[in-house]
Amino acid sequence: MTASIELLTNATADQYRRMVHATVDRIADRVQRVEHPTTYTPAAELRRRVRAVDLDQAPLGTDAALVELDDLFVREAVWFHDPGYLAHLNCPVALPAVAAESVLAAVNPSVDTWDQSRIGTEIERHVIEWVASRIGFTGGDGVFTSGGSQSNLQALLLAREATAAQHAGAQHAAAHHTDAPHTDGHRAQPPLHPVVFATAESHFSVRKSAHVLGLPADAVVDVATDASGRMLPDALATAVARARRAGRTPMAVVATAGTTDRGVIDPLQAIADVCDLEDVWLHVDAAYGCGLLVSPTRRHLLDGIERARSVTADFHKSFFQPVSSSALVVRDPRDLRRASWHADYLNPEDATEPNQVDKSLQTTRRFDALKLWATLRATGADGIGRAFDAVIDLTEATHALVAAQQDLVLVAPTQLSTVLFRFQPEGMSDAEADALVGPLRATLLAEGRVLIAKTVIDGRPCNKLTILDPDTTTTQMQAALAHVVATAEQLARTTSSTGAAR
Ligand SMILES: *Cc1c(COP(=O)(O)O)cnc(C)c1O
Repeated sequence: MTASIELLTNATADQYRRMVHATVDRIADRVQRVEHPTTYTPAAELRRRVRAVDLDQAPLGTDAALVELDDLFVREAVWFHDPGYLAHLNCPVALPAVAAESVLAAVNPSVDTWDQSRIGTEIERHVIEWVASRIGFTGGDGVFTSGGSQSNLQALLLAREATAAQHAGAQHAAAHHTDAPHTDGHRAQPPLHPVVFATAESHFSVRKSAHVLGLPADAVVDVATDASGRMLPDALATAVARARRAGRTPMAVVATAGTTDRGVIDPLQAIADVCDLEDVWLHVDAAYGCGLLVSPTRRHLLDGIERARSVTADFHKSFFQPVSSSALVVRDPRDLRRASWHADYLNPEDATEPNQVDKSLQTTRRFDALKLWATLRATGADGIGRAFDAVIDLTEATHALVAAQQDLVLVAPTQLSTVLFRFQPEGMSDAEADALVGPLRATLLAEGRVLIAKTVIDGRPCNKLTILDPDTTTTQMQAALAHVVATAEQLARTTSSTGAAR
């Protein structure tokens, strides 16, 4: 059997309508019946089912293929809106954004050159200008990206280009000053040894980006933090001075507004003071904390963010947007041009055409801005901000629940929505408690009822909840925690009876 490919065209519009309605009905039924964040189907079985499909086999036709997809994938999906989903920075998604996503799926726009997007370019620019104004940039600019990692990479690329240009300028001026002999008007420049200052709590994409940019492994310096994991501004000043003395060039300081594990915000004002004094590019990674930009009660936690030269914001974390939705925003629009590249077929002679492709590392690029646009028009910024506030309120309540549970230890405080804890009843050694952290997460995942994470804090493993559902109640959280504790007790009994943890 063969089937010819069915394209979405004038001729198939009615077919599209039927197909999408049927698909949406199936999804809505599933969502309605979700009781746990995922299923308990074993990993080997998931693999077996997928591998059993021969992609060279006779095709099924559209309807049957979509039913198969529903059974194979959607049934086994991980649902971020379930109150038991507490593992990572995945949020339940805003309905208007989900609808806008289906618009994107059908229209299939690409925001690169003006002639490919027109109104889309205007909408993305308007949304970016709105985000920039929330940050406090006057006349800032930016571009949507696929995520915080991509935004951080682009920020560091721009910072590297700016630093290289500054370095070249300084060498040129120095050459003039000393009347050094010019050979062909050029002089070999001393190499640039760029340094990025971050902390051990910074997102791993900072190091990965430095690596991608071809910087040596020692180019990223971990600045010391206080006990809560926040960058120490004095230690930053010392580290910058030390780098300069070693003949290296500070390229960027990455401050994190909402660290992935501890959920704390680096002291932005004091860090900006150091950056201003030293004339170093300040990048604020607000991938997680950007929801505070619209918080009616906690916006002050981001005070100083307007002094950054670039900011990462992940709307698919704290703005309740579907994946993907992130932006890199810069204070000075000219900085964004540092990533531009000329291609004759994309960059027309007529420079008045606004080309988003000049601002992005991507060429063909999703029109993710439409989802945030739809949400802002439907709910307003306050609506988003109140939801993020509710998440942080629920986290504070959860901290109290953990502290009150005598078999759990609250490992560290947070300013956002993570909960770091360990199951360690009285009399249990640190080693035994540490040994339970991994198995507890794995056992819960295999069951599919409450999903949690694990990480390492101050050199010791611990478990982590990341809360992003504003609709979860304290009672539901209490039930989830009770299940975690019961599972840990069970694990502790089995491991101690077999002596495995001894
Ligand atoms: C999640 C996160 C990132 C990476 O964002 P992605 O969208 O997953 O690429 C970067 N920085 C911080 C602080 C994060 O929490």
